[in-house]
Amino acid sequence: MSDRILIRYGELSLKKSNRKQFTDKMKFTIKRALKDYPNLEYLDCSMRFYIILNDVNPDLIIPILKKIPGIYSFSIVSYCEKDLDKIKELSCKLLKEELAHNEGTIKVNTSRSDKDFPMESLEISKAIASYLFKNIPNLKADVHNPKIVLNVDLRVEGCFIYTNIHYGLGGLPNGSIGKVELLISGGIDSVVAGYLGIRKGMEIEAIHYASPPYTSDMAVQKVIDLLEKLTPYTEYQSITLIIVPFTKIQQAIYDNCRDDYCITIMRRMMYRIADRLARERNALGILNGENIGQVASQTLESIQTIGSVTDLPVIRPLSTMDKSEIIEIAKQIDTYDISIRPYEDCCTVFVPKHPQIKPRKEMAESQEKKFDYQTLIDEAVNNVRYIKLTTNKHHDIFLNDDNIF
Ligand code: ATP
Ligand code: MG
Repeated sequence: MSDRILIRYGELSLKKSNRKQFTDKMKFTIKRALKDYPNLEYLDCSMRFYIILNDVNPDLIIPILKKIPGIYSFSIVSYCEKDLDKIKELSCKLLKEELAHNEGTIKVNTSRSDKDFPMESLEISKAIASYLFKNIPNLKADVHNPKIVLNVDLRVEGCFIYTNIHYGLGGLPNGSIGKVELLISGGIDSVVAGYLGIRKGMEIEAIHYASPPYTSDMAVQKVIDLLEKLTPYTEYQSITLIIVPFTKIQQAIYDNCRDDYCITIMRRMMYRIADRLARERNALGILNGENIGQVASQTLESIQTIGSVTDLPVIRPLSTMDKSEIIEIAKQIDTYDISIRPYEDCCTVFVPKHPQIKPRKEMAESQEKKFDYQTLIDEAVNNVRYIKLTTNKHHDIFLNDDNIF
């Protein structure tokens, strides 16, 4: 009976001037995510978008739609001609079907955006309700707190009847905001930051600093596994990972700089490399998992001293969250169990006993003069390795596989 899915967009309805650009992106993303179902058809009606099922089971489509940023909600609906008798009959059939697996009180809710239809919403609801009460025994109404709402949506393009609403991710269509470089560590936080960035419309490219032999291939594998959890949320179902060889830089810092400034300087180097890669690869900002007050490098003083090496916007979606809130999202997106695998990150090797919690920019700069970091940064950037991760794991493409560290 239910023949289509009605998609409702969320925040993009606020974007008046470039609304079309957003809705086009949205439609493109939906079609791409559902490309394995060639029988589906798509129908575009102003701010509504319909997926015509053509007998495809909606249960296969629902989990995919729930991962597409920009969808506020969707309903599996039944099309009906705009004829009151037909609407009553179909409403009755749908409600019986719903009651078969979900008992409870009901309410009929009509919305009439087609003002040419000759009755008002309330009148239509009453007419349908009285038909339902005649034809379904023991039916109970509750206008304030109904268990089941039978929605009748009378629009120019037809009448749509449904009892279900599924909530989507919200946010903005992926890629509609531009590209950012995500600094991903393998810990709990940065992958969650990546997810929140994607949900807010950012196209992400991921940068991971690896310090072999102090960090193992398993740490890189962990980052790959984490990013693979994010690919289904992206516009092209893929994310490029850039692995930066970081050992020499880290070694030089620890050989030359004051112990308590090592973390600050290491992070300044990470930001410098991210800034450089972002500019080379047309990204507009840097996204990371920093959380204010969590560790020494995340005091406001540290964030200021570290962030001063770049003038790109640094986006920190987790900055004010509690760890428990971050973990909750990590569990929702199924990254938590991967993140807690016990492999060393480059931040955890060479950790000084007493890192500076209020590092000063001038001191960091004077320590950095003790070695030629620019040459080391050039060398690291020239030897990055790219891995394209896709939702279908078999399609990994190694762009320059000779440059392994
Ligand atoms: P996470 O759980 O993401 O590791 P964290 O709370 O452990 O974060 P830090 O280790 O101080 O905090 O790192 C802060 C941020 O710096 C991370 O969220 C991440 O964005 C970035 N970062 C840390 N280590 C790396 C790395 N090896 N490669 C890329 N980015 C990193
Ligand atoms: Mg970490």
